Amino acid sequence: MTATSTKKVQGLRYVTRFECIGSRCEDTCCRGWEIFVDERHYFRLQKTLAATPEGKADFAASFQPRPPGARDKQSYALLVLQEGKTCTFLTEDQLCRIHRDHGAEVLPNLCALYPRSLAKIGSRFELSTATSCPEAARQLLLHEDACDIVDVSADILPRPDMAMTVPASTRDPWLGLFDVVRGSLYRGVRRRQYPVTSRLFQLASFAQEALPFFHRGCGSDGSFAAQKMKFELQCLEDPAILDEQHARFSASAASSDVTLALLARIFEAHLKENPTRPMAQLLGEVGLPTVADVHPTSLRAVLARTMPSLAPDFLARAETWLENFCANVFLREWYTYSPDVVVYLQVIFVRLNLIRFFLYTHPQTLAAHALPDPVQRREAFDKVAVQVVYRVSRAVDHLLELLQNIEKILVEKQTQTLAYSTLLLQLGA
Ligand code: SF4
Repeated sequence: MTATSTKKVQGLRYVTRFECIGSRCEDTCCRGWEIFVDERHYFRLQKTLAATPEGKADFAASFQPRPPGARDKQSYALLVLQEGKTCTFLTEDQLCRIHRDHGAEVLPNLCALYPRSLAKIGSRFELSTATSCPEAARQLLLHEDACDIVDVSADILPRPDMAMTVPASTRDPWLGLFDVVRGSLYRGVRRRQYPVTSRLFQLASFAQEALPFFHRGCGSDGSFAAQKMKFELQCLEDPAILDEQHARFSASAASSDVTLALLARIFEAHLKENPTRPMAQLLGEVGLPTVADVHPTSLRAVLARTMPSLAPDFLARAETWLENFCANVFLREWYTYSPDVVVYLQVIFVRLNLIRFFLYTHPQTLAAHALPDPVQRREAFDKVAVQVVYRVSRAVDHLLELLQNIEKILVEKQTQTLAYSTLLLQLGA
């Protein structure tokens, strides 16, 4: 029994099914990242590799301590990536040489954890994974039960001391209600009697009503109102209110203009700064390879070409992918880091639109539609979903500023209205 075996650990069911597929993976963990090495493992690796002259030379060539002013315990050094932007320790069969020769114990924290991340809420641990790993995306997206919350064996907890935390009890309601609010978002996006966009509209309606008294700082600026918050949380579980919100959203005739303008801006910035990265590759595949191609009119034209052909079985399958993607995001990317829940949701809506745009326009989606055999057809749809979600996630994770910039744009434009959230849920020609 390990030191962590007595701990309560939970995760979504797909986490228990995830296993790195190593040399069978269509990508690698380390391509294109900036890989930080924590101080403890930097020195441990130095000692381990120094056992042979080759190892010593490997260490000197591969790990670069950061300048004294820039380094901290978790980002003490950088792994120097080789030509092709992969780690020098990656073997020809795509396996990690350090792991193979010296075991997982000596791996830097980031390498030992990826794609998993750990959280500690009170005394409970939670394990989740990033969708920038294709195998994690596969396990998450393709199964109806992937997002059920289950107990996880504590023995698979990697590096429990690396967990991000929220205090179990706090006088700040923004943090103190964390488990309750996050649980409501998670339950809300899993109400399968409504389309996913209606479920997200219901959540946006809750966030909007709660905004005056539930936002970061609501405990200290005196605006928090416990009774009103309780009422709004109850509304989010009330079938009559949810039905009414679904009917209202379904009847809204909002245009996609706002979404397309935002996507065009993101694509343009991405192509200028990261022409070889995953989203740039996706843009090339859907026929928008250059900055000159990514304006709202051309995005609309691409959608107009493909969307009328999308079949009901594809759109039904997309509901599962999008639901699971959102449930995973709600659990692992906490609203507490945003100024309020409205902006938090709006940034997720933008990310969802990136995914929907590529899902709806990708040539492989259309090719899959042509397959007569329903099993093969569904497998082909699923394959596109994994490729799109993992590559969009990789683009977003590689470029954390992308999310911060989206949030900044939204806050600057004062978009915290239900009308704007409704616009961000629209994607069409
Ligand atoms: S990206 Fe995922 S499946 Fe691929 S090598 Fe890394 S952990 Fe394994």
